[in-house]
Amino acid sequence: MMWIWLLPGSSLLSVLFFVFLNKQLKKKKPSFKIDEKDNLPSKKEFAFTFLNLGVFILVGALMDYAQTKGLLKIESIHTAAELNWWFLIVSIFVCLGIHDIYFYVTHRILHMPVIFQKVHSIHHRSTNPNPWTAFSFHPIEGVIQIGIVSILAFILPIPEISLIIFTLFMSLLSVYGHCGYELRAEKWKGFEVFNTALHHQQHHQFVRYNFGIYLSIWDKLFGTFSPTYNKSLKELIAKNKEA
Ligand SMILES: [Zn+2]
Ligand SMILES: [Zn+2]
Repeated sequence: MMWIWLLPGSSLLSVLFFVFLNKQLKKKKPSFKIDEKDNLPSKKEFAFTFLNLGVFILVGALMDYAQTKGLLKIESIHTAAELNWWFLIVSIFVCLGIHDIYFYVTHRILHMPVIFQKVHSIHHRSTNPNPWTAFSFHPIEGVIQIGIVSILAFILPIPEISLIIFTLFMSLLSVYGHCGYELRAEKWKGFEVFNTALHHQQHHQFVRYNFGIYLSIWDKLFGTFSPTYNKSLKELIAKNKEA
């Protein structure tokens, strides 16, 4: 009985972590704000977030049940001596790689006109997101988003701890994309392949660009990379340097 707590717990803790971080940034680094307008959470964002935490509890309960029946491929590691550290690290990257493709493909599907109107438009109500926007979506989208953890647990014979670390990382990165503050520094040259908070903020702003989660390669490959992204990122970094 662990996934029932881990799926909603990692999501809620990630939101609270960025709510706290944003409070510090607002005081100490206000120039890091992407859109200077306030982005306070709405009642609907709270309501949909808590609805989805309920969805994550249900999905977690089903995973726990499947695990007790021996249906999951993930393997419990009882002692550190059994753990192959290389396998642990590689398996986390495999999870991230599969999720990166899964997120891009399902996100493009969520933008098909009928599905967008009925499901994904709830998440797009916010054009200037805040940490509570991250899990504010239709419960069907909640199942799709958290479903990647279940899919990986059913198909990958990897240590359970790898999937736990992946889940925590995925939750944090999902909220980072909605935190409203750009944290990338200029010295991180060569990191252009990784998406930023600005990248996903532009998705909420322009809707038809920037569908990816971790890597920018999918948007670049399929022609959905925002044409104003590089210029805006440069301007934000320059503004942060001056402050
Ligand atoms: Zn979208
Ligand atoms: Zn979003």
